Amino acid sequence: MKKRHGHYCCVCDQFKANEKFSGRGHSTHICKVCAKLQVNERETQQLQNKITFFYQKHRLSQKDREYLTKISKDAGHPKAAEDAKSFLADYDRERALWRELSKDECVITENPEPDTP
Ligand SMILES: [Zn+2]
Repeated sequence: MKKRHGHYCCVCDQFKANEKFSGRGHSTHICKVCAKLQVNERETQQLQNKITFFYQKHRLSQKDREYLTKISKDAGHPKAAEDAKSFLADYDRERALWRELSKDECVITENPEPDTP
């Protein structure tokens, strides 16, 4: 069986070679480069990774939305808060647009082609 090489760093969101991690870094999933960052920078990076993950989702659950709203108000991590805010704004704009389009579609389906016998 093929073994997966490397180790995942949850701060820079990358798979890196085992030697890029210190002994402690393995269990905390933080590579040597990220371990040198300030705690706040590291947390901001991790929050931003999570926001990036939400970008891949098409629909947010109520829980997702609450979580993102919480990040958007996180004064301790202003950069991540900005990202969360613009994500929610983008998401709402897209949803509104989608609703508009759906409405148009409804009008069309309300007047179907008459059935030809
Ligand atoms: Zn890293």
